[in-house]
Amino acid sequence: MAGFVTRFAPSPTGYLHRGHAFSALTAFEAARAAHGRFLLRIEDIDATRCRPPFEAAIYDDLAWLGLAWESPVRRQSEHLGDYGRALRELGERGLLYRCFRTCRDVAQAIESAPHGAMEAFRGEALPPDEEARRIAAGQPYAWRLSLAAAERALGGFGALTFEEIGEGLIAAQPDLGGDVVLARKDVGVAYHLAVTVDDALQGVTQVIRGRDLFEATHVQRLLQALLGLPTPTYRHHRLLTGPDGKRFAKRDGAETLRSLRDRGVTAAELRAELGFQT
Ligand code: GLU
Repeated sequence: MAGFVTRFAPSPTGYLHRGHAFSALTAFEAARAAHGRFLLRIEDIDATRCRPPFEAAIYDDLAWLGLAWESPVRRQSEHLGDYGRALRELGERGLLYRCFRTCRDVAQAIESAPHGAMEAFRGEALPPDEEARRIAAGQPYAWRLSLAAAERALGGFGALTFEEIGEGLIAAQPDLGGDVVLARKDVGVAYHLAVTVDDALQGVTQVIRGRDLFEATHVQRLLQALLGLPTPTYRHHRLLTGPDGKRFAKRDGAETLRSLRDRGVTAAELRAELGFQT
């Protein structure tokens, strides 16, 4: 298939485990089958959680698995200017507002919402004098995307669709996630904005990633529309589960690829276990 470009985009916040290997192999093998390109992107905007040894281990572990990727690898921390430009563009069009709330404030606002079960936070800019007072006092703030403003700008979300391989055209529902943060207080950018900008700048045509990021696609589809960026095709693969039926996750201490290697598991064995031909 001409022009097939996909990517694996890990965050160096820990060592890779089987779930990552499955995701990386799924994308890599799809690119190979399509005679396309496979990119590796390091999602390291969160300087408080990302560590150089984890990044070095990503390269090691993926090479051990038998993957090859193009260089240079895009490291998000080296491209903050790109995200800043996109953020400014959205801000100038009145699509963002400053949010001074803490995480706890947001959780409380959600809890006390009139409909009880409202999961998604929606807010608005503070009155200008109050905002100016807080800025002068040095209070940190995040930038949130205003769904209300986005809806006005696009004349509704009805035209926002994306293609999910195996499922067909999906109508995006970006409002499910509420007014997402596009620039965090501490790092000046946030996940959805960086990913959307990068996928477009890198010419990614197929986003292949875990089902856990399906909801994220709805938000990213909205950002594509607002920023005039192309929409890739998506494939959210199943999530691997361990013997206990729970999905592999860093926080549950899933066995790392390093440790598999250390106890003598070969890459060929792991690939076979994950359902890939060696
Ligand atoms: N960096 C994200 C993660 O490690 C993945 C982002 C993506 O594939 O869009 O979960």
